[in-house]
Amino acid sequence: MAIEKTLAIIKPDAVGRGLAGDILKHIHEAKFKIVAVKSLRLTKSEAEGFYAVHRERPFFKDLTEFMSSGKVVVMALEAENAIARWRETMGATDPAKAAPGTIRKTYGTSIQNNCTHGSDAPDTARFEISYFFSGMELI
Ligand code: GDP
Repeated sequence: MAIEKTLAIIKPDAVGRGLAGDILKHIHEAKFKIVAVKSLRLTKSEAEGFYAVHRERPFFKDLTEFMSSGKVVVMALEAENAIARWRETMGATDPAKAAPGTIRKTYGTSIQNNCTHGSDAPDTARFEISYFFSGMELI
């Protein structure tokens, strides 16, 4: 199994509710290495650029407003099979359908306000990591 990097975001709903520490504990317990981390507030246009693949989806406006509504914590996580493993650790997009013990099941409150983001494939992971971090920040 290859060592991979994936992009994780603790979304504004979770940061705003003071859940960043609890979510970091899940990341630690699932044995991801945090290669890089930063906290920032996205502008609306930065959120639109990040979610550009979703621009035709009906929830694009709501999603980009939500993602620019408060601070996020952005991380590059590294592990064997990190992309799939982080998505398993988060759980299904809709917290109501997520498996017990996952982050979204435990803390998510709606299909939109689901506390975390994770890249879904190697090419999106590369794009998303480089959206937030320079090469030097990933050493
Ligand atoms: P993910 O890969 O599990 O994050 O899911 P998607 O790529 O399908 O969607 C991206 C993000 O858009 C999700 O994490 C949610 O925050 C949000 N989202 C997904 N589906 C809906 C929806 O039906 N309504 C709204 N308002 N937001 C959604």
